[in-house]
Amino acid sequence: MMVERILVSLTALLPNHTGCNAMNARKMILPTVALLLVILIPDLAAAKVKVVATLGDLAAAAEEVGGEDVDVKLLARPQEDPHYVDAKPSFVREVAQADLVVLNGMSLEIGWLPMLVKNSRNPDIQRGEPGHFDASTFIERKEVPKQQIDRSMGDVHPEGNPHYTYEPRQMARVAIALGKRLGQIDPANKAAYQKRARKFARECLQTYKHWQEKFAELPAERREVVVYHEAWIYVLDWLDLERVATVEPKPGVEPNPRHVVEVIKTIERDEIPVILKMEYYPATTVERIADKTGAKVVSSQGQTRLGKSYIDRINALASAIYKALDK
Ligand SMILES: [Zn+2]
Repeated sequence: MMVERILVSLTALLPNHTGCNAMNARKMILPTVALLLVILIPDLAAAKVKVVATLGDLAAAAEEVGGEDVDVKLLARPQEDPHYVDAKPSFVREVAQADLVVLNGMSLEIGWLPMLVKNSRNPDIQRGEPGHFDASTFIERKEVPKQQIDRSMGDVHPEGNPHYTYEPRQMARVAIALGKRLGQIDPANKAAYQKRARKFARECLQTYKHWQEKFAELPAERREVVVYHEAWIYVLDWLDLERVATVEPKPGVEPNPRHVVEVIKTIERDEIPVILKMEYYPATTVERIADKTGAKVVSSQGQTRLGKSYIDRINALASAIYKALDK
């Protein structure tokens, strides 16, 4: 891809009108160009595909699938709430230079990514181009609102619940699609992308199955949970758990005292053993509820840290929930 661009610009330098001087110039330039290419090509052939991922889980998947053929940059800090990311000036530069932008989609990054993509003026990564990889178009969407939504319902995502990366079977689908897309952008390494995508997808599916079987051993009364934000539907369906209350009164709306009292009553009445929250949500309210009721708090990593394994993160998450549920 890169090689082609350089070749085109180099041939453009060659005079294409006839004439004695021009012919001589051509004779002189051609060997120079050939020499230049010989020097440049080994380096260019090794040029990596520049991938920019919005979230840690997607960056981790891109590293697994892309391996040595890609250079992955991560935008949102993994500890950061993906709904509200501070777009740093460096983001525009990263996106401007990217060959491929990998995003979560389903409006999760709506507050910060579309402007960034537009301002980057990079034609390759605009919506609809191969360099724009919206991972949510390859998953099985859940909680897609059936009725018209409005702001009074809180921060409801119109295309459905966007927090699918916590569920490894969904990520297996993303991995396979990402492998195909990378092969399209960088055809020379197509086979390698496919191979790595299949391997990572297999690991995701094994993780999915392992924890599904493990959680099946839990008795029915230990399968009920309270969540902080409606981010858990994919995990709950995967591990066959039931959400009986949510600490946020509406998605994205901070808990108020009256609602917290309701949540405490529910936990006490139904003897709910666990409250699930992401690390980026405030701990105080949840800890107060836990103190009052004896429920355990599982505070999960929001996203995979850069350079760390997605599978390890999912194993840690499932294991923490299991330990808290298992008496
Ligand atoms: Zn959300």
